Amino acid sequence: MTETSTDSNTFACTNCGADLKYKPGTQFLTCEYCGAKNDIPQIEGEVEELDFYKYLKDKSDKEEHVTALFVKCGTCGATATLEPNVTSAKCPYCTSPLVLEDAKDEYVIKPKSLLPFKITKDQAKDEFKKWVNKLWFAPNDLKKAILNLDQFKGIYIPFWTFNTDTSTDYTGQCGEHYYVTDSYTTIKYGKSLTKTRQVQKTRWYSVSGRVNHLFDDILTVATHSLPEKYIYRLEPWDLENLVPYDRNYLSGFITEKYQVELDEGFDIAKKMVDEEIRELVRRDIGGDEQRVISSNISYNSITFKHLLLPMFVSAYFFKDKLFLFLINGRTGEVQGERPYSKWKIGLTIAAGIAVIAAIVYI
Ligand SMILES: [Zn+2]
Ligand SMILES: [Zn+2]
Repeated sequence: MTETSTDSNTFACTNCGADLKYKPGTQFLTCEYCGAKNDIPQIEGEVEELDFYKYLKDKSDKEEHVTALFVKCGTCGATATLEPNVTSAKCPYCTSPLVLEDAKDEYVIKPKSLLPFKITKDQAKDEFKKWVNKLWFAPNDLKKAILNLDQFKGIYIPFWTFNTDTSTDYTGQCGEHYYVTDSYTTIKYGKSLTKTRQVQKTRWYSVSGRVNHLFDDILTVATHSLPEKYIYRLEPWDLENLVPYDRNYLSGFITEKYQVELDEGFDIAKKMVDEEIRELVRRDIGGDEQRVISSNISYNSITFKHLLLPMFVSAYFFKDKLFLFLINGRTGEVQGERPYSKWKIGLTIAAGIAVIAAIVYI
């Protein structure tokens, strides 16, 4: 299970520090500034190649599956269960009417665990009202419209979490600062003077090494129906309070089916992990400056869980624009689009200018 990443143009001449164009596959490079011959650090040894996508597929096939009645939205593609006893319904994300006759049983990986809703729908509505009323720049008629709350649903949103033990072989350069005395000429009172100053330079060394890190509960959302940035802002989730999956928790709420397959979810998790690994590699290189030329990440002992997390979602169409608001079903935290009213902003700016003008006048 390996992944190689390379920063282009991150190779510095070990003699003069000039940027050298790194040519993949080459062993050394001659600096066009000072003529020094630079050895390019190479990753040593072969890392065992394992196909983690196949591995994940095999594992997910062995997972317990369940069948549930889902209806797919023809407009946004979200696939969700229906609220009990509905005769007509709208998509909770884009408000399009759903064709109830199209509801069908789907075979899905059974969630391992979930966080039950902790706040009630009424409490969530109160939090939402408070939040909307604080939106000073929102147009007043929008505030009224979104507080209508027809489209306010409690939904269990699908997530994947991954654990993986990583080991990363890297090559790079460690830069250490040193100072040289530089003399320069300056003119003072019509006389030419020679002065000296300290100039910082960087000496580069080739380095290589390995860092190991165990990642626990990398949480990735398994839906495209909601804006990711708002979902991730609802974190942290109190995952220590997860309970084993039980259908009873779902009654009265909508459950969305995962749209992001397991391997796609793992790709997202890898991106999150990579940033952190890059930081660990830099720390391992040490010195005053670091350049990472290549890193070869092995993801070992991958395990995953399918989770459901509780959110209240409010979707509202206003002047042909969809406004989506999310509320954490555990904490009541609200995230969503902040609509702006042009005239309210204009009025604030005008008031600001008036205050400045008044101060200047005084
Ligand atoms: Zn050079
Ligand atoms: Zn929809």
